[in-house]
Amino acid sequence: MKHLFPIKKVREIVFPQPPVIADRGFEVDGSNVRMNLNESPFPPSPKAIHAAVATLGSFNSYPDHGCSSLAAAVSRQTGIPTNRISFGNGSGELLVALAMLSIEPGDEAVVPTPTFPTCPKGVQIAAGKLVSVPLRSDGVNDVPAMLGAITAKTRLFYLCTPNNPTGGTLGQADILRAIEEVPENCLLVIDEAYHEFSAHGGGPDVLALLSSRVGPWAVTRSFSKAYCLAGLRVGYAISSGTEIQLGLMQLRPNFNVNRVALAAATEAYADKAHLEATLDKTIGERNRLGDGLLALGFEVFPSQANFLAAGLPTATQVSAQDIVEKLKQGGILIQAMPWPNQRGSLRITVSSRENNDRFLSELREILA
Ligand SMILES: *Cc1c(COP(=O)(O)O)cnc(C)c1O
Repeated sequence: MKHLFPIKKVREIVFPQPPVIADRGFEVDGSNVRMNLNESPFPPSPKAIHAAVATLGSFNSYPDHGCSSLAAAVSRQTGIPTNRISFGNGSGELLVALAMLSIEPGDEAVVPTPTFPTCPKGVQIAAGKLVSVPLRSDGVNDVPAMLGAITAKTRLFYLCTPNNPTGGTLGQADILRAIEEVPENCLLVIDEAYHEFSAHGGGPDVLALLSSRVGPWAVTRSFSKAYCLAGLRVGYAISSGTEIQLGLMQLRPNFNVNRVALAAATEAYADKAHLEATLDKTIGERNRLGDGLLALGFEVFPSQANFLAAGLPTATQVSAQDIVEKLKQGGILIQAMPWPNQRGSLRITVSSRENNDRFLSELREILA
Protein backbone atom coordinates (compact mmCIF):
# COMPACT_ATOMS: atom_id res chain seq x y z
CA MET A 1 0.00 0.00 0.00
CA LYS A 2 1.19 3.49 -0.86
CA HIS A 3 2.34 5.46 2.13
CA LEU A 4 2.82 9.21 2.27
CA PHE A 5 6.14 10.63 3.40
CA PRO A 6 6.95 12.49 5.47
CA ILE A 7 4.64 10.84 7.98
CA LYS A 8 1.68 12.74 9.42
CA LYS A 9 3.41 13.74 12.67
CA VAL A 10 6.15 15.44 10.64
CA ARG A 11 3.85 16.97 8.02
CA GLU A 12 1.84 18.60 10.76
CA ILE A 13 4.76 20.35 12.47
CA VAL A 14 3.96 24.04 12.72
CA PHE A 15 7.14 26.07 12.39
CA PRO A 16 7.56 29.64 11.12
CA GLN A 17 9.29 29.84 7.77
CA PRO A 18 12.86 30.98 8.46
CA PRO A 19 14.02 34.06 6.54
CA VAL A 20 15.83 33.37 3.27
CA ILE A 21 19.60 33.65 3.60
CA ALA A 22 20.97 33.83 0.07
CA ASP A 23 24.65 34.58 0.54
CA ARG A 24 26.79 35.29 -2.50
CA GLY A 25 29.20 32.40 -2.69
CA PHE A 26 30.32 31.78 0.87
CA GLU A 27 30.61 35.41 1.90
CA VAL A 28 27.80 37.31 3.62
CA ASP A 29 25.87 39.26 0.98
CA GLY A 30 26.79 42.81 1.97
CA SER A 31 24.07 44.39 -0.14
CA ASN A 32 21.57 43.87 2.67
CA VAL A 33 21.71 45.13 6.22
CA ARG A 34 20.70 42.10 8.30
CA MET A 35 18.78 43.31 11.33
CA ASN A 36 16.46 40.29 11.22
CA LEU A 37 18.39 37.40 12.73
CA ASN A 38 19.75 38.70 16.05
CA GLU A 39 23.28 38.08 14.81
CA SER A 40 26.09 40.28 16.07
CA PRO A 41 27.04 43.04 13.64
CA PHE A 42 30.50 42.96 15.20
CA PRO A 43 33.29 40.49 14.36
CA PRO A 44 34.24 37.72 16.82
CA SER A 45 37.33 37.84 19.00
CA PRO A 46 40.53 37.97 16.91
CA LYS A 47 41.78 35.12 19.13
CA ALA A 48 38.77 33.01 18.06
CA ILE A 49 39.47 33.74 14.41
CA HIS A 50 43.13 32.84 14.88
CA ALA A 51 42.24 29.56 16.61
CA ALA A 52 39.75 28.69 13.86
CA VAL A 53 42.34 29.30 11.15
CA ALA A 54 44.86 27.15 13.00
CA THR A 55 42.52 24.12 12.68
CA LEU A 56 42.18 24.37 8.92
CA GLY A 57 44.85 21.77 8.22
CA SER A 58 43.09 19.12 10.35
CA PHE A 59 39.78 18.76 8.51
CA ASN A 60 40.54 15.16 7.68
CA SER A 61 40.07 14.20 11.34
CA TYR A 62 36.85 14.06 13.29
CA PRO A 63 36.57 16.56 16.15
CA ASP A 64 36.71 15.79 19.87
CA HIS A 65 33.04 14.90 20.31
CA GLY A 66 33.32 15.31 24.06
CA CYS A 67 34.23 18.98 23.40
CA SER A 68 36.54 18.53 26.38
CA SER A 69 38.50 21.79 26.21
CA LEU A 70 35.35 23.88 25.98
CA ALA A 71 33.55 21.76 28.59
CA ALA A 72 36.43 22.31 31.01
CA ALA A 73 36.30 26.07 30.43
CA VAL A 74 32.52 26.26 30.96
CA SER A 75 32.91 24.08 34.04
CA ARG A 76 35.59 26.35 35.52
CA GLN A 77 33.44 29.43 35.01
CA THR A 78 30.10 28.00 36.14
CA GLY A 79 31.23 25.54 38.80
CA ILE A 80 29.14 22.83 37.12
CA PRO A 81 30.95 19.50 36.55
CA THR A 82 31.65 18.64 32.91
CA ASN A 83 29.36 15.59 33.08
CA ARG A 84 26.40 17.97 33.31
CA ILE A 85 27.45 20.12 30.34
CA SER A 86 26.41 19.16 26.77
CA PHE A 87 27.25 20.76 23.44
CA GLY A 88 25.23 21.11 20.30
CA ASN A 89 25.42 22.38 16.74
CA GLY A 90 23.88 25.58 18.02
CA SER A 91 21.69 25.57 21.12
CA GLY A 92 18.72 24.95 18.81
CA GLU A 93 19.81 21.34 18.41
CA LEU A 94 19.81 20.94 22.18
CA LEU A 95 16.36 22.54 22.55
CA VAL A 96 14.90 19.96 20.15
CA ALA A 97 16.72 17.16 21.97
CA LEU A 98 15.54 18.32 25.40
CA ALA A 99 11.95 18.05 24.16
CA MET A 100 12.64 14.62 22.69
CA LEU A 101 14.13 13.27 25.91
CA SER A 102 11.21 14.46 28.03
CA ILE A 103 8.08 14.04 25.92
CA GLU A 104 6.22 10.79 25.18
CA PRO A 105 3.46 10.89 22.52
CA GLY A 106 0.49 12.74 24.01
CA ASP A 107 2.44 14.40 26.82
CA GLU A 108 2.08 18.14 27.25
CA ALA A 109 4.61 20.97 27.14
CA VAL A 110 3.77 24.39 28.55
CA VAL A 111 5.40 27.12 26.48
CA PRO A 112 5.02 30.91 26.24
CA THR A 113 3.74 32.49 23.02
CA PRO A 114 5.22 34.12 21.06
CA THR A 115 8.63 32.65 21.78
CA PHE A 116 11.62 31.06 20.07
CA PRO A 117 10.04 28.22 18.08
CA THR A 118 12.70 25.51 18.29
CA CYS A 119 11.80 23.87 21.62
CA PRO A 120 8.13 23.81 20.57
CA LYS A 121 9.28 22.18 17.33
CA GLY A 122 10.99 19.44 19.36
CA VAL A 123 7.74 18.87 21.24
CA GLN A 124 5.95 18.33 17.93
CA ILE A 125 8.66 15.97 16.67
CA ALA A 126 8.13 13.98 19.86
CA ALA A 127 4.35 13.93 19.19
CA GLY A 128 3.67 15.96 22.30
CA LYS A 129 0.96 18.56 22.75
CA LEU A 130 1.86 22.24 22.97
CA VAL A 131 0.04 24.25 25.60
CA SER A 132 0.81 27.84 24.62
CA VAL A 133 0.37 30.61 27.19
CA PRO A 134 0.37 34.27 26.04
CA LEU A 135 3.16 36.55 27.24
CA ARG A 136 2.52 39.37 29.69
CA SER A 137 1.80 42.70 28.03
CA ASP A 138 5.42 43.75 28.64
CA GLY A 139 6.76 40.80 26.58
CA VAL A 140 7.89 38.69 29.55
CA ASN A 141 6.90 35.02 30.04
CA ASP A 142 3.77 34.89 32.22
CA VAL A 143 4.97 32.42 34.85
CA PRO A 144 1.83 32.38 37.06
CA ALA A 145 -0.40 31.73 34.01
CA MET A 146 2.00 29.08 32.72
CA LEU A 147 2.03 27.34 36.11
CA GLY A 148 -1.76 27.39 35.96
CA ALA A 149 -1.62 25.53 32.64
CA ILE A 150 0.22 22.52 34.10
CA THR A 151 -1.76 19.27 34.12
CA ALA A 152 -1.00 15.68 35.12
CA LYS A 153 0.34 15.18 31.59
CA THR A 154 2.86 18.06 31.60
CA ARG A 155 6.45 16.87 31.22
CA LEU A 156 8.17 19.98 29.87
CA PHE A 157 7.99 23.61 30.97
CA TYR A 158 9.87 26.00 28.70
CA LEU A 159 10.93 29.51 29.72
CA CYS A 160 12.81 31.89 27.47
CA THR A 161 14.57 34.79 29.21
CA PRO A 162 15.20 37.27 27.69
CA ASN A 163 12.32 36.12 25.50
CA ASN A 164 12.79 36.10 21.74
CA PRO A 165 11.06 37.91 19.92
CA THR A 166 10.01 40.41 22.63
CA GLY A 167 13.19 40.89 24.71
CA GLY A 168 11.51 40.78 28.14
CA THR A 169 13.47 39.24 31.01
CA LEU A 170 12.03 37.27 33.92
CA GLY A 171 12.51 38.68 37.39
CA GLN A 172 14.01 36.65 40.21
CA ALA A 173 10.66 36.06 41.94
CA ASP A 174 9.10 34.48 38.83
CA ILE A 175 12.13 32.28 38.19
CA LEU A 176 12.03 31.08 41.80
CA ARG A 177 8.31 30.34 41.54
CA ALA A 178 8.93 28.19 38.47
CA ILE A 179 11.85 26.45 40.17
CA GLU A 180 9.65 25.62 43.17
CA GLU A 181 6.31 24.91 41.52
CA VAL A 182 7.11 23.11 38.28
CA PRO A 183 6.52 19.50 39.36
CA GLU A 184 9.32 17.00 39.79
CA ASN A 185 8.06 14.87 36.90
CA CYS A 186 8.48 17.83 34.58
CA LEU A 187 11.69 19.07 32.92
CA LEU A 188 12.17 22.81 33.43
CA VAL A 189 14.03 24.21 30.42
CA ILE A 190 15.30 27.79 30.59
CA ASP A 191 16.55 29.18 27.28
CA GLU A 192 19.25 31.76 27.99
CA ALA A 193 20.50 32.45 24.47
CA TYR A 194 20.93 36.09 25.53
CA HIS A 195 22.39 35.26 28.96
CA GLU A 196 25.51 37.42 28.54
CA PHE A 197 23.43 40.50 27.69
CA SER A 198 21.03 40.08 30.59
CA ALA A 199 23.84 39.31 33.04
CA HIS A 200 25.62 42.48 31.86
CA GLY A 201 22.42 44.40 32.56
CA GLY A 202 22.19 43.03 36.11
CA GLY A 203 19.55 40.36 35.32
CA PRO A 204 18.97 37.45 37.72
CA ASP A 205 21.56 34.66 37.98
CA VAL A 206 19.37 31.83 36.67
CA LEU A 207 21.98 29.14 37.18
CA ALA A 208 22.55 30.09 40.83
CA LEU A 209 18.79 30.14 41.48
CA LEU A 210 18.42 26.68 39.93
CA SER A 211 20.63 25.13 42.60
CA SER A 212 17.54 25.11 44.82
CA ARG A 213 15.42 23.10 42.36
CA VAL A 214 14.53 19.57 43.41
CA GLY A 215 13.18 18.43 40.02
CA PRO A 216 15.05 18.14 36.71
CA TRP A 217 16.16 21.21 34.76
CA ALA A 218 18.31 22.37 31.87
CA VAL A 219 19.61 25.78 30.84
CA THR A 220 20.63 26.39 27.22
CA ARG A 221 23.09 29.04 26.06
CA SER A 222 24.59 30.00 22.74
CA PHE A 223 27.80 31.19 21.11
CA SER A 224 25.72 32.73 18.30
CA LYS A 225 24.77 36.00 19.94
CA ALA A 226 27.16 37.71 22.40
CA TYR A 227 30.17 35.68 21.20
CA CYS A 228 29.51 36.61 17.56
CA LEU A 229 29.85 33.02 16.24
CA ALA A 230 26.41 32.42 14.67
CA GLY A 231 27.89 30.99 11.47
CA LEU A 232 29.88 28.33 13.34
CA ARG A 233 26.96 26.80 15.28
CA VAL A 234 27.86 26.12 18.92
CA GLY A 235 25.58 26.06 21.91
CA TYR A 236 25.55 24.29 25.25
CA ALA A 237 23.16 22.96 27.85
CA ILE A 238 23.83 22.82 31.56
CA SER A 239 21.59 20.31 33.28
CA SER A 240 20.54 19.16 36.72
CA GLY A 241 22.10 15.73 36.42
CA THR A 242 24.19 13.36 34.35
CA GLU A 243 21.07 11.51 33.16
CA ILE A 244 20.04 14.56 31.11
CA GLN A 245 23.55 14.87 29.68
CA LEU A 246 23.52 11.16 28.77
CA GLY A 247 20.08 11.54 27.18
CA LEU A 248 21.37 14.39 25.03
CA MET A 249 24.36 12.25 24.07
CA GLN A 250 22.06 9.36 23.07
CA LEU A 251 19.91 11.61 20.90
CA ARG A 252 22.85 13.24 19.16
CA PRO A 253 22.97 12.14 15.52
CA ASN A 254 26.79 11.95 15.40
CA PHE A 255 29.78 14.25 15.76
CA ASN A 256 27.83 17.48 16.07
CA VAL A 257 30.24 20.29 16.92
CA ASN A 258 32.95 20.68 14.32
CA ARG A 259 36.66 21.21 14.86
CA VAL A 260 36.73 24.83 13.69
CA ALA A 261 33.73 25.81 15.79
CA LEU A 262 35.14 24.15 18.88
CA ALA A 263 38.47 25.95 18.59
CA ALA A 264 36.84 29.32 17.96
CA ALA A 265 34.26 28.94 20.74
CA THR A 266 36.91 27.94 23.28
CA GLU A 267 39.01 31.02 22.50
CA ALA A 268 35.99 33.32 22.32
CA TYR A 269 34.86 32.09 25.72
CA ALA A 270 38.29 32.88 27.19
CA ASP A 271 38.44 36.38 25.69
CA LYS A 272 36.47 38.23 28.36
CA ALA A 273 37.71 41.66 27.24
CA HIS A 274 36.28 41.11 23.78
CA LEU A 275 32.97 39.90 25.22
CA GLU A 276 32.70 42.97 27.47
CA ALA A 277 33.50 45.29 24.58
CA THR A 278 30.84 43.61 22.40
CA LEU A 279 28.26 43.87 25.19
CA ASP A 280 29.07 47.54 25.84
CA LYS A 281 28.86 48.45 22.16
CA THR A 282 25.65 46.51 21.61
CA ILE A 283 23.90 47.88 24.69
CA GLY A 284 25.02 51.43 23.87
CA GLU A 285 23.55 51.06 20.39
CA ARG A 286 20.41 49.42 21.78
CA ASN A 287 19.81 52.52 23.88
CA ARG A 288 20.35 54.83 20.91
CA LEU A 289 18.12 52.73 18.67
CA GLY A 290 15.43 52.68 21.36
CA ASP A 291 15.57 56.47 21.72
CA GLY A 292 15.29 56.84 17.94
CA LEU A 293 12.23 54.57 17.86
CA LEU A 294 10.61 56.43 20.76
CA ALA A 295 11.18 59.72 18.94
CA LEU A 296 9.28 58.28 15.95
CA GLY A 297 6.34 57.42 18.21
CA PHE A 298 6.98 53.68 18.59
CA GLU A 299 6.34 51.83 21.81
CA VAL A 300 9.67 50.27 22.76
CA PHE A 301 9.41 47.17 24.95
CA PRO A 302 12.04 46.67 27.65
CA SER A 303 14.82 44.46 26.25
CA GLN A 304 17.85 42.90 27.87
CA ALA A 305 18.93 41.29 24.60
CA ASN A 306 20.60 42.38 21.33
CA PHE A 307 17.27 43.28 19.74
CA LEU A 308 14.25 45.49 20.37
CA ALA A 309 10.54 44.85 19.98
CA ALA A 310 8.68 47.98 18.90
CA GLY A 311 4.92 48.52 18.77
CA LEU A 312 3.66 50.76 15.96
CA PRO A 313 2.91 54.45 16.58
CA THR A 314 -0.81 54.91 17.25
CA ALA A 315 -1.14 57.49 14.47
CA THR A 316 0.30 55.17 11.80
CA GLN A 317 -1.89 53.40 9.25
CA VAL A 318 0.85 51.15 7.82
CA SER A 319 1.03 47.60 9.16
CA ALA A 320 4.16 46.00 10.62
CA GLN A 321 4.40 43.78 7.53
CA ASP A 322 4.19 46.83 5.23
CA ILE A 323 7.08 48.44 7.07
CA VAL A 324 9.13 45.25 6.75
CA GLU A 325 8.48 45.11 2.98
CA LYS A 326 9.32 48.77 2.44
CA LEU A 327 12.54 48.54 4.42
CA LYS A 328 13.47 45.45 2.40
CA GLN A 329 13.23 47.45 -0.81
CA GLY A 330 15.86 49.75 0.68
CA GLY A 331 18.07 46.77 1.60
CA ILE A 332 17.28 46.66 5.32
CA LEU A 333 15.96 43.40 6.76
CA ILE A 334 13.95 43.25 10.00
CA GLN A 335 11.07 41.03 11.17
CA ALA A 336 7.42 41.68 11.84
CA MET A 337 5.55 39.74 14.51
CA PRO A 338 1.86 39.26 15.21
CA TRP A 339 2.11 40.62 18.76
CA PRO A 340 0.81 42.23 20.98
CA ASN A 341 -2.26 42.94 18.83
CA GLN A 342 -3.69 42.76 15.30
CA ARG A 343 -1.43 45.54 14.07
CA GLY A 344 1.66 43.63 15.08
CA SER A 345 5.08 44.97 15.94
CA LEU A 346 8.67 44.96 14.74
CA ARG A 347 11.64 42.97 15.97
CA ILE A 348 14.83 44.82 15.19
CA THR A 349 18.31 43.42 15.80
CA VAL A 350 20.68 46.02 17.22
CA SER A 351 23.31 46.66 14.57
CA SER A 352 26.28 48.99 14.15
CA ARG A 353 25.83 52.74 14.66
CA GLU A 354 25.88 53.33 10.91
CA ASN A 355 23.27 50.64 10.20
CA ASN A 356 21.02 51.73 13.06
CA ASP A 357 21.07 55.31 11.80
CA ARG A 358 20.30 54.19 8.27
CA PHE A 359 17.42 52.07 9.56
CA LEU A 360 15.98 54.96 11.59
CA SER A 361 16.16 57.39 8.69
CA GLU A 362 14.47 54.94 6.26
CA LEU A 363 11.83 54.26 8.87
CA ARG A 364 11.20 57.98 9.31
CA GLU A 365 10.58 58.28 5.56
CA ILE A 366 8.23 55.29 5.48
CA LEU A 367 6.10 56.80 8.26
CA ALA A 368 6.06 60.28 6.72
C1 LIG B 1 19.19 32.54 18.70
C2 LIG B 1 18.45 31.79 19.71
C3 LIG B 1 18.70 30.44 19.98
C4 LIG B 1 19.54 29.52 19.19
O1 LIG B 1 20.69 29.88 18.76
P1 LIG B 1 21.74 28.86 18.18
O2 LIG B 1 22.34 29.65 17.08
O3 LIG B 1 21.05 27.62 17.72
O4 LIG B 1 22.68 28.59 19.33
C5 LIG B 1 18.01 29.81 21.00
N1 LIG B 1 17.11 30.47 21.71
C6 LIG B 1 16.82 31.75 21.48
C7 LIG B 1 15.81 32.43 22.33
C8 LIG B 1 17.45 32.45 20.46
O5 LIG B 1 17.11 33.71 20.21
